[in-house]
Amino acid sequence: MKLILESWRQFINEAEESSPKIVTVDFDDTIRMTEDGRPNPVVIEKIRELKAGGAKVYIVTSRLDNSDNKLQIDDFLDTNDVPHDGFYLTNTQDKWYTLGSVEKSKDGKKAHVLLPGGVVSDMHFDDDQHEFDAIRSHIEEFPEDKQNIKLMKVDWKTGKVKEWKEELDEAAKPNPWAICTKSVGREDKEKYESCVLKVKKQHGIKK
Ligand SMILES: [Mg+2]
Repeated sequence: MKLILESWRQFINEAEESSPKIVTVDFDDTIRMTEDGRPNPVVIEKIRELKAGGAKVYIVTSRLDNSDNKLQIDDFLDTNDVPHDGFYLTNTQDKWYTLGSVEKSKDGKKAHVLLPGGVVSDMHFDDDQHEFDAIRSHIEEFPEDKQNIKLMKVDWKTGKVKEWKEELDEAAKPNPWAICTKSVGREDKEKYESCVLKVKKQHGIKK
């Protein structure tokens, strides 16, 4: 009996751990496909399921933070009945700052980048490989209980989703965050960030 109870408790704990409380979702080529502007039913259905399971869902896009973009995104989410708890435009900044609510330096001043409500992501959907590389390279800067953030890779062509694991990534592309950690280190954040921008430019990485 004791054994049964213990394994039941373990099962409940695992079930609780695996249901994310805070979910973040990219917009372009994740919710809205750029090719023809159609909504991605695969991701939208996942959002509905996660919301029904009690998760909070925030849209996080690296688009410029301006009223045109806000209106377009709001309108699209409304028209396509995508349930969500808010959206956030990172203004071309890498998303790891926002998802991990991590300190960043701006003109020598430090600031925390927070999602609405100051939350930290448990699960992130994105089509952009480089956002995942950046998250993985900075994972130890995330709060300790959020370092196992689930990364869900969206295929920008088919819209299909699968969990992304670093070790399964066959296409080894240059990782600017890893390169700069090695070459200039992370002590001087401004130096580090300008290195990341330089390496991105060299390899034609847009985001
Ligand atoms: Mg995208």
